[in-house]
Amino acid sequence: MGLNDIQTRIAAACAEAGRAVDEVALIAVSKVQPLERVEAILEEGHLLFGENRVQEAAGKWPDFRVRFPDVSVHLIGPLQSNKTRQAFDLFEAIHSVDRPKLAQSIARLAQEEGRCPELFIQVNTGEEPQKAGILPGDADAFIQDCRAMDLPLRGLMCIPPVDEAPSLHFALLKKIAERNGLNGLSMGMSNDFEQAIAFGATHIRVGSAIFGERVPT
Ligand SMILES: *Cc1c(COP(=O)(O)O)cnc(C)c1O
Repeated sequence: MGLNDIQTRIAAACAEAGRAVDEVALIAVSKVQPLERVEAILEEGHLLFGENRVQEAAGKWPDFRVRFPDVSVHLIGPLQSNKTRQAFDLFEAIHSVDRPKLAQSIARLAQEEGRCPELFIQVNTGEEPQKAGILPGDADAFIQDCRAMDLPLRGLMCIPPVDEAPSLHFALLKKIAERNGLNGLSMGMSNDFEQAIAFGATHIRVGSAIFGERVPT
């Protein structure tokens, strides 16, 4: 466990898959972690982090950014459209674009500000009713709509169902991305990032394997 160990495992998975190690960005998911654990990873020189709640990120990252101005923070959890402006101020990327209303809200603000975080469309590959994301069958049309709004699409994101083989979901996400000419794939977490790398992940989101188990809230 720890940052070095994960980096070693990423390098091994990349070698196995015949990929260059710099094709895979490690997003250290710092949600709910005590600040001193996050600070320790910052001190080690890691600069890319993920948060799943806007409020929590707002309470933490503006201070860290003063001391570590080169950090990037990605939103990997749900975004309400009325928090779009706050998200623009807090995050370099949003991985959870999951519905037309949110896409429209982002497009309006991007017009107004002349800038936009990089965007990933979240796909509900397992078609789970309780989970966010565009259904696989609606993904092509939604991607087209986002492009028509000039949104800076970086790629697709998924969170596989807990009780299914993640590789099926990684393969599906990759297929949808390929047929739409997108090459960013945000997939893979602590338990399955090596498989995700084998299936072409460009952004893996790893929390507990770096920081230790999250303290329950
Ligand atoms: C919490 C979270 C992660 C990290 O999960 P771990 O199992 O701790 O690696 C990755 N992606 C999303 C969307 C999350 O909410």
